[in-house]
Amino acid sequence: MSSYAQLLKDAVSGFESKGVEDARNNARELLAKALGCSCRDSAFEQKLGEQAQSDAANEFEELCKRRMNGEPLQYLIGEWEFYGLTFKVGRGVLIPRQDTETLIDTVLKKADRDKKVTVVDLCAGSGCIGIVLEKYLNCEKVFAVELSDEAMAYLEENIRLNKSRVVAVKGDVTDRKTADALPMADILTANPPYLTAQDMRELQTEVTFEPESALFGGEDGLDFYRQILINFKHRLKAGGLAVFEIGAGMEEDVMTMLVRHGFENVRAVKDACGIFRCVAGFKE
Ligand code: GLN
Repeated sequence: MSSYAQLLKDAVSGFESKGVEDARNNARELLAKALGCSCRDSAFEQKLGEQAQSDAANEFEELCKRRMNGEPLQYLIGEWEFYGLTFKVGRGVLIPRQDTETLIDTVLKKADRDKKVTVVDLCAGSGCIGIVLEKYLNCEKVFAVELSDEAMAYLEENIRLNKSRVVAVKGDVTDRKTADALPMADILTANPPYLTAQDMRELQTEVTFEPESALFGGEDGLDFYRQILINFKHRLKAGGLAVFEIGAGMEEDVMTMLVRHGFENVRAVKDACGIFRCVAGFKE
């Protein structure tokens, strides 16, 4: 049997020939998973020189095959970091993306930091937005609303894992009753499904493994913003802040919706790549 270092080298070549991005990091993460450690531990570097055991080698091979088949790295390792916290992820829940850090930064910048706030996060998925905001803001209560049972299981697990006070609420944001059951909020956030019908036909292979219900926002991608504004506007206190993540090129449409619903100081905020990634406004 070869050393782990050799298996790693072979996997990197395999990934490179299949066009897997960031081949070396993917291979290291998957080998660490098979070895039951983190590739950032010194134990991992030590292991590399050892003769591979067949169990770990077989598991590594299986993980590499799945990765080459397009399965996202995050699902294979079962967790992902977002804004310095760790979130469990797997089939049935959207993987937290770096794009969403723009929404967090925007809320932290615009929220009244001296006041105790109630936050409602819609289409919560893994819970990454609500759980991070609960850690960084002075929160009275944070509610994370999610419809899918599969995503809900991850949301609840992530609340426990991060020792968070977030309250998971099963609910449908397109149903007014979900809104009526919640208290008045100071801050309303959402990263709703916003891919268009055209986007859905052109998904990157990795994204096809993620739940369609977390991605597809109707023909023009804007269905959830319409529904959320209709159903949840009355749950936001006067002067309350709304921040929604958006897809590339949606800023004009979503800003117009907020203005039509009477929001003030409506702004779009760019992400690290210079793309408008969220829209924020204050309720009059
Ligand atoms: N940002 C995701 C993507 O590009 C979409 C997530 C969403 O619809 N909220 O795949």
